[in-house]
Amino acid sequence: MRFLLLFIFLLLFIGENIAQNTSLPFPRNFENSYEKGLRSWDGNPGPNYWQNRSDYKINISLNPKEHELEGSQEVTYYNNSPDTLRMIRLKLLADLYRKGGQRANDVDPNDVTDGVEIEHLTINGVPVAKSAQNRHDCYLDIQLKSPLAAKSSLKLSVAWEYTLPASEHATRECICDPTTFFIPYFYPEIAVYDDLHGWASAPYNGLQEFYHAFSNYAVSIILPKGYQAWATGEWQNAAEILQPQYLERWQEAHTNPEVISIFSEAELKSGRVFKNLKKNVFHFKATDVPDFAFAASDHYNWDATSVVVDDKTNRRTLVSAAYDSQSRDFKRVARIAADGIRLMSTWLPGYPFPYPSLTVFNGNDGMEYPMMINDASVSEDYVTSLTVHEASHTYFPFMMGTNEQYYAWMDEGWASFFDHFLADSLDNKNSRIGSWGFCNDWEVPPMVPSRALDGRSYGFAAYTRPQLAYTQLYDMLGSEKFHKCMTIYMDRWKGKHPGPYEFFNTFNNVSGQNLDWFWKPWFFEFGYPDLKLEVAKMDNVTGGGNANYVIYVERKGNIPVPVHLEIEYADGSKEHIHKTAEEWKNEDKRVLQLKISAGKTPKKVTLGDKTIPEAKPKDNVWQGG
Ligand SMILES: [Zn+2]
Repeated sequence: MRFLLLFIFLLLFIGENIAQNTSLPFPRNFENSYEKGLRSWDGNPGPNYWQNRSDYKINISLNPKEHELEGSQEVTYYNNSPDTLRMIRLKLLADLYRKGGQRANDVDPNDVTDGVEIEHLTINGVPVAKSAQNRHDCYLDIQLKSPLAAKSSLKLSVAWEYTLPASEHATRECICDPTTFFIPYFYPEIAVYDDLHGWASAPYNGLQEFYHAFSNYAVSIILPKGYQAWATGEWQNAAEILQPQYLERWQEAHTNPEVISIFSEAELKSGRVFKNLKKNVFHFKATDVPDFAFAASDHYNWDATSVVVDDKTNRRTLVSAAYDSQSRDFKRVARIAADGIRLMSTWLPGYPFPYPSLTVFNGNDGMEYPMMINDASVSEDYVTSLTVHEASHTYFPFMMGTNEQYYAWMDEGWASFFDHFLADSLDNKNSRIGSWGFCNDWEVPPMVPSRALDGRSYGFAAYTRPQLAYTQLYDMLGSEKFHKCMTIYMDRWKGKHPGPYEFFNTFNNVSGQNLDWFWKPWFFEFGYPDLKLEVAKMDNVTGGGNANYVIYVERKGNIPVPVHLEIEYADGSKEHIHKTAEEWKNEDKRVLQLKISAGKTPKKVTLGDKTIPEAKPKDNVWQGG
């Protein structure tokens, strides 16, 4: 009886405990993970945290003339979950171009194909019957003959081929010219199975981004004679392929802080760069990365340098730019990327760049892949911001394996926040943080799952609002505390899959403040930042004949933002007043009152600055009579 009472008491206590640990809306799937000790209330991974992973051995062969790619792969999949899996889900992202598939945007009709052709598929050596395969939404589900038990593994072998989309507007990949290719998402990848959603299920339609498990890759890329490959990971066999003079340059780039040319277009065309081989077979290896991409060309220039990313160990990252001779901006890109990576490692986020290499490839997009970037050529004043934006994605979502299908703000918000400060610092500018989009009927809060959004709502919820939220948080906590919260969050979840509550809770835990009052309006609520300025002359005139003035700042919108005032006085002097968003911590507070020093007469008062969003700026300037 006493035991039963204790049991009931414990149940009540645990139930209450969960409700008490956050004042934020808290979905049931998270509740389940917190109850099972997979994730902790202080923001750490729980004692029972698990994630599944794979080892990939992939051989691929590109036929540039026919635009055909074929491959075969052996995958060992480790089920570290406590669940018995009755199926395995493969991602076939090239099925974006499959007849009848769903797409966010139209594609060139000439690119529509039968999708990925699976030529051979076995599990643990046994062929998978057609009846056990179900193809949908860029996935291939395989019903397992014998279920995969918890804490066990299986071997999957698959051979496949498909035709690359040739339109220059192809999403995130390109046939950049007849002999230049950027090729991501090409191999059947095992989808993520996690504690929050089970098998990842968002259809790939070309708009929303990705969610990957951390895996090891050993990839061989077979290219015709005369082609160079750039890829995720470290190149294993440069000495087999490059002539000594070019091998020496490649080796030198690993220690040289100056940008050097590995080879130019003219050198490639002279035929002296590569050894005389029938085909060029490149081997790349990468450990604990979420995905693998590669690029190939027979005429691109290759610049490279390296940069110290960890002053404690002197570890360096090899930074490359591969580009067309016609590109103007790419001649600067290796330098920009290396300087950007140095700033990322030492300042923002101030965390050693985790990868041994990064290649920025002159393609058709602005898109990140582990250790690879596909960037179009852009204008001189945009190239820095684009390059550092994509390079900073190395932290989010690659080092921190966030789920972009649900919470794209957990990576795009950070990349936009970093790129603003990094690009301003590198280009010696002080630009305005973009705050377009507030107060529109398509604007949604970031916590609306990204998979549910169209392009415009996605752009705002994934980029603009979180970037601005992080900026106000930085202002409020101060750079030291903000940096501590951010880097501890990174330490805790590096190589894992944090969700939003692990981010919120880590900042609450490390800052020692319950910031739920800030998270709620910025991430969960509809609404916008809108402050209103009024300046009033007080009735009681002082003896000297000068009036006293009071400034009123009214919070008309629900999103808390700093109060930044510039006051120009009649005597020509100026004053700045800055109060962080914390001013609005108590949501009942509607008006902030500030008295102007006795004897001072304001001429003009301006509310706001370059880093503070404001949906309705009309009432933010006051001019005295
Ligand atoms: Zn981005």
